[in-house]
Amino acid sequence: MRLPRRKRKPAPRPPDPAPNEQMAASKYAPYLDELAATSIWHMSTRLPRLIGLAWTWAWRADRTDTAATIGLNLAAGVFTAVGLFAVTGVLEPLFTGGPTPERVRAALPSLALVAGAYAARALLQAGAGWAQARLRPQVERLTELHLFDLTSRIGLEAFDDSEFNDTMYRARDRGQYEAAQVITSAVDVLTSMVSITAAAGVLAVLHPVLLPLLALTVIPDGWAAARAARMRYERIRDLTPGRRRKWALGDMLASRDSAAELRAFTMRGFLIDEYTRISDIERAAMLAVARRQTVIRLLGEGAGGVATAVTYAALGALLVAGAMPLAVAGTAVFAIRTAQSSLSTLLFSLSATYESGLYFSDFLEFSRRAAQRLPDAPTARETARLAAVRARGVVFAYPGEQTPALDGVDIDITRGEVVALVGENGSGKSTLARLIAGLYTPQSGSITWNGTDIAGMDPDALRGRIGLINQEYTQWPLSAQRNITMSAEADGTRLEEAARLSGADEVVTGLAYGWDTMLDKRFVDGADLSGGQWQRIASARGLYRDADLLIADEPTSALDARAEKRLFESLHAHAQGRTVLLITHRLASVRMADRIYVLEKGRVVEHGDHENLMACGGLYAELFRMQAQAYEEGAPLTHDTGSDTAVSSPLAEKTPGLTH
Ligand code: ADP
Repeated sequence: MRLPRRKRKPAPRPPDPAPNEQMAASKYAPYLDELAATSIWHMSTRLPRLIGLAWTWAWRADRTDTAATIGLNLAAGVFTAVGLFAVTGVLEPLFTGGPTPERVRAALPSLALVAGAYAARALLQAGAGWAQARLRPQVERLTELHLFDLTSRIGLEAFDDSEFNDTMYRARDRGQYEAAQVITSAVDVLTSMVSITAAAGVLAVLHPVLLPLLALTVIPDGWAAARAARMRYERIRDLTPGRRRKWALGDMLASRDSAAELRAFTMRGFLIDEYTRISDIERAAMLAVARRQTVIRLLGEGAGGVATAVTYAALGALLVAGAMPLAVAGTAVFAIRTAQSSLSTLLFSLSATYESGLYFSDFLEFSRRAAQRLPDAPTARETARLAAVRARGVVFAYPGEQTPALDGVDIDITRGEVVALVGENGSGKSTLARLIAGLYTPQSGSITWNGTDIAGMDPDALRGRIGLINQEYTQWPLSAQRNITMSAEADGTRLEEAARLSGADEVVTGLAYGWDTMLDKRFVDGADLSGGQWQRIASARGLYRDADLLIADEPTSALDARAEKRLFESLHAHAQGRTVLLITHRLASVRMADRIYVLEKGRVVEHGDHENLMACGGLYAELFRMQAQAYEEGAPLTHDTGSDTAVSSPLAEKTPGLTH
């Protein structure tokens, strides 16, 4: 069985993947390629859609703050235009003839208007900034909750699909936070555009030739900004494999899972050296980019300066030729300065919006794919207590696998029975248990609950009737009690009973804070348990649920002999009035089962009770005799028989250290 993985033993990531592998596995390749291919045309076609989508998230998060952000920014832009026009009103009287006091007096109303307009703009911008700052955490909250709502509801198959996992990783890693960033940068785009439009409008009114001159002053800056941004994208793309490697090394250097082996194998020096080597390459590359960006910017600024000089020369020429009054020229200078500073904001925020937008599209893509993987609405209302579960012609292959894990399986489980599944490793026992638990859906054939196909039942209602003792249980970072009850409420009697039956009571007695002890060392006063102690907790979890059907998948693999015996007795006792589906390689424990199904390569090859199966002399009889022989002769334990059912010995129960 492969899912879900236990947290304490994650598959270690190889410290030194081959360069090709690093490149192929680059999680960032999709958008980095796109960033590198960024052209003005490409940006202008994608940006409006991305911005629109980000705004819909903002709208859903908080309508008032969204409306305030847009409305107040637009209004601030209007006051920029008003202020600019008012500047002409100030300059005109100042540059006309007459005594100075009178000229100043004549300019005063317009001066008041300029001051008023800029004060109003400052107030509006402050309000817009406030609304925008309020919006950000609300959007982030919404996208985070949306993501986890989907990840916790989608079908389990999704987690077996590597492509889907990549999408999910990208969405979680950064995508979910970028909606807020797109909004922030889009607001900057909006405000700078409003400001540029205001300045351009003023210039067009002042003199038609000023508009193309404005364009001339801003083009070099625009070019330099685009070049510098693209340079950075390309460098980041080149550095991605190294960065991923660095993250992997960082995980190993700062994770509890690897902390023990890191020390035991004195890996520290090697890992730190490797980390430093990659960091040095990265640092050198980024410093080189910074240098080249400075050169590009200087070139842009230089060319922009020349263009500005040309503009001012043109203004001077217009003045000399008498085509433009001095006051108008003064306003034009003011408007050009305003437009230039807004333009640099615009260019910066445009590329920031686009970059965030690409990460944000990862989030959108994940949402789209996850929505396709949500279970269909239930078609059946069946929630009655279990009378019988039947599997008929069940065929199931894991996503991306050619060979089916189950190939035409029929089994029956009737209320009150203990039914056992036995067979070699990989024969399909756990997969069948998961299908019966409604965690996967067969590709063909059916599994019915009291005659109703479980595919049409409400998954939560079905799961509420099933208890699962999973071989690869989860070690929840919760208290001992909640690790068993799996909810805030606890039924004291049931908890005591489940703990007694599984042996978890002995574990809890030894904990500093009893039931309230946090079972995770990473938290204050957290405790750590051994594998066997954890398995007792996991068994108690399955037994606590007052389920019609208890599925126990290798529930004793880490238990000592005494605990194992106690648990099997508990399971048989538990079956009185209930039903148990038991998967185990301890054949002595399935002897008492009402029915035993022997699986081989995804098919049921034998079934019946112990006596029948022994009498027919097939695979079960062979495996059972192998174990019995080991018991009788006290033969050395052979763990590598290729079979789940041929590795146990009575010695294991008597001799400490020989249990599995
Ligand atoms: P058993 O419980 O009998 O040891 P499983 O049901 O775990 O066997 O596995 C049956 C087959 O399905 C095996 O070939 C195994 O490699 C494959 N398998 C199990 N889990 C997965 C998975 N998540 N993705 C792909 N293949 C899987």
